[in-house]
Amino acid sequence: EGIVIAIDGPSGSGKSSTARGVARSRGLRYLDTGAMYRAVTWWMLDRNVDVGDTAAVAERAWLPELDMGTDPASPAVRVDGADVAHAIRSPEVTARVSAVSAVPAVRERLVSQQRDLIAEAQRAVGGIVVEGRDITTVVAPDAAVKIYLTASAEARAQRRGNETQAQDLAATQAELLQRDLLDSNRADSPLTRTEDALELETSGFTLDEVIAIVVGLADE
Ligand code: C5P
Repeated sequence: EGIVIAIDGPSGSGKSSTARGVARSRGLRYLDTGAMYRAVTWWMLDRNVDVGDTAAVAERAWLPELDMGTDPASPAVRVDGADVAHAIRSPEVTARVSAVSAVPAVRERLVSQQRDLIAEAQRAVGGIVVEGRDITTVVAPDAAVKIYLTASAEARAQRRGNETQAQDLAATQAELLQRDLLDSNRADSPLTRTEDALELETSGFTLDEVIAIVVGLADE
């Protein structure tokens, strides 16, 4: 049975780059669960669903047909056949995704799809690297390697700013902290950590160093 490497952490902690790098270096598949919450959010906004209306979102939680590519070299995201890999990174989606991901029916649907993708990767190839907020706790608590990545607020804003070409780092940092708060300030918060997930503070390390640390853990 293939290996599962679970990586959780807040946005800007370096999760995606780390998870992709580990998957590429070990020949594993890669799953960005945040992209799934973003894709459902994109679909709701595209259909003019009021994402503040929990019942309206819950009713439609299973409607978008989500097709997630798990190749770390080109992780495709399709909703109802449309390529939304770029669209799901828009400021509109980023501002609304916390509200949509707080709806239990959305989480139920996506966690179940995530578990199916994990099982498929375990059967088909050597395994998968999965990143998100609740992978070590909810989606794959039995993963062989469980890591919680963190970084200082400044380092996270810097990274996110580089990704989005944002000019105003203070605003980027405020937006990140606001989303952390929205993601954690609820009963079923996805920002929980297990006792046995290893916490890795990445501020002082390069991406290659962090990848090497995680690959080392997987090789143990
Ligand atoms: O990782 P990323 O910043 O793209 O995640 C976008 C949003 O998706 C998070 O702010 C959070 O609201 C939600 N999310 C979640 N559970 C996950 C992954 C992401 O609730 N496993």
